[in-house]
Amino acid sequence: MKGIIYPKPHCWKYQDTPTPQPGPEDVLIRIKSCGICATDLHIYNGEFISRFPLVPGHEFSGEVAKVGDKVEDIKVGDRVTVDNAIYCGNCEFCRNNKEHFCLNFRSIGVTQNGAFAEYVVAHKSHVYDIENLSYDEASFTEPLSCAIHGLKLLGVTPGAQTLVFGAGPAGLMLLQLAKYSDCSLVVIADPNYCKLDKAKELGADFAIFADRSDHVKNREVLLNIAPLGYDYVIDATGKTEVQENCLWLVKKGGKFLVFGLA
Ligand SMILES: [Zn+2]
Ligand SMILES: [Zn+2]
Repeated sequence: MKGIIYPKPHCWKYQDTPTPQPGPEDVLIRIKSCGICATDLHIYNGEFISRFPLVPGHEFSGEVAKVGDKVEDIKVGDRVTVDNAIYCGNCEFCRNNKEHFCLNFRSIGVTQNGAFAEYVVAHKSHVYDIENLSYDEASFTEPLSCAIHGLKLLGVTPGAQTLVFGAGPAGLMLLQLAKYSDCSLVVIADPNYCKLDKAKELGADFAIFADRSDHVKNREVLLNIAPLGYDYVIDATGKTEVQENCLWLVKKGGKFLVFGLA
């Protein structure tokens, strides 16, 4: 099959690579859609736990092409997505229901071959039917799950005022979830007008241009909208200088969420 390979950090190739074969409890999936994530860039730069050579791609959906002998509930032709994260189940964090901090964390597309290729293999327990979602919609399952988890940690309550820094895909998902959670005010801040237009289209009450070189001015503008600060401030930029300035904008008793691979 064809695939994109990172042979080592700072290097990628489009080349032939062996088609993976499913074990008895595995499912072989023909990839139909795969998201590109900032994590893929971290991996490319050698900044994550990846092992090379690697086929990246962890946000994907596709059609079942083959199943192992011990797979009963999943059939060839099923439209599916996959939970890419693999936890050990035994470490301190797994035993405390915080699997995403697993000390032996593995992931399809991060520590083993992923979906920037024609096929990927996943264990049957990680495969989910996508019903009538499109393949592109279904490839958002992983990043959207992360965003939902973030909002759950905050415990967002109806009527709350929420500020999101960063209007990239993660920020835009968090914005929409905050709206669906009945926040009374959702403000998004970003230095890119094109992204801000998208944020307005998706329901932001205010989409504020925030030049990252002038945090004092940004703070002034954002506190004009919510003079006591915001119940929830979310950083979806991964930038330390933005995170440091977020703290000034949290209302007393409010919460600050650092979202992403920060
Ligand atoms: Zn991702
Ligand atoms: Zn673990």
